[in-house]
Amino acid sequence: MPAFLQPSSLSEAWSALKENEDVRFLAGGTDLIVLMRQGAVKCGAVMDVKKIPELSVFGFKDGALEIGGAVTCAQILEAHETEGPYGILKQAAVTLANSLLRNRATLAGNLCNASPGGDMIPASLVLGASVVAASPRGEREIPLKDFFLGVKKHVLARDEIVLRVVFPKIQGGGVYLKKRRIRGHDLAQVGVAGFYDGGLRFALGAVGPTPVLVDFGRIPEAELLERKAEIVETVAAEAKPITDIRASKEYRLAMTRLFAGRILDALSSCSRPLAVEEAAQ
Ligand SMILES: Cc1cc2nc3c(=O)[nH]c(=O)nc-3n(C[C@H](O)[C@H](O)[C@H](O)COP(=O)(O)OP(=O)(O)OC[C@H]3O[C@@H](n4cnc5c(N)ncnc54)[C@H](O)[C@@H]3O)c2cc1C
Repeated sequence: MPAFLQPSSLSEAWSALKENEDVRFLAGGTDLIVLMRQGAVKCGAVMDVKKIPELSVFGFKDGALEIGGAVTCAQILEAHETEGPYGILKQAAVTLANSLLRNRATLAGNLCNASPGGDMIPASLVLGASVVAASPRGEREIPLKDFFLGVKKHVLARDEIVLRVVFPKIQGGGVYLKKRRIRGHDLAQVGVAGFYDGGLRFALGAVGPTPVLVDFGRIPEAELLERKAEIVETVAAEAKPITDIRASKEYRLAMTRLFAGRILDALSSCSRPLAVEEAAQ
């Protein structure tokens, strides 16, 4: 049975890391506990990081939005901070599991689980997020686009705790579309996020071993629809899906194209924006 650790400060966390071997960090536990129950994760100790004050931040600093490592998807859905340009985080959060899960599941846990289908990842990528992590050796900030190494693999060392996710000051708007097998809660067969702020970015989930960011740079608004076919094909070319229990690779590719086109329609001012629930189907 692993030991249970619950530090209330970073210095307590560093001491506990010295005294225990093979420690796994716990936020909401909606991934970790499931894997431990299945026997897929074995460890010497579980460290609940939610009582460390640095992980509870949720607000603006120097114009950038900071979301602490203990902030849940339910908090993201309720907050006024995640409105306007950051509203795409709400669009993604509402598609994650169900309200019971969202009360526990954190944004940081979704990123650190590093599943290719994590719903918060594409939305965070198109917003230009970075991850601030701390260890006994100090702090570092990692652009999210450089964070993922493979299926369930990221760049963090075993003793690095994500303190917060930082979203730069941004204008514009975004859309997240998720396709799943059923209307109830299910992981994504495909997740596509798009954002336009004078520059156009797409990010793809569940169509490769890692989420993918496709950055088109600056494109005049008038050209968004004129160049639709080319943009959709460029996005689809970045998708490298496989066939698994959720969908065939051909279906995933077709949905990536469809969603990229719909998102472009929604981002262009000539089209009506998609409602969140419509977007989620
Ligand atoms: C029934 C069910 C349905 C689900 N549906 C969805 C879905 O629709 N979409 C989706 O994307 N996901 C889904 N999930 C997966 C899961 O709920 C999410 O990935 C969630 O965001 C994980 O967050 P958490 O806080 O529970 O992470 P945890 O389980 O606590 O941790 C996940 C991983 O991140 C690490 N970690 C957590 N916090 C930190 C930190 N601060 N610093 C360093 N490492 C950290 C942990 O060690 C662990 O490896 C589902 C899970 C279940 C059980």
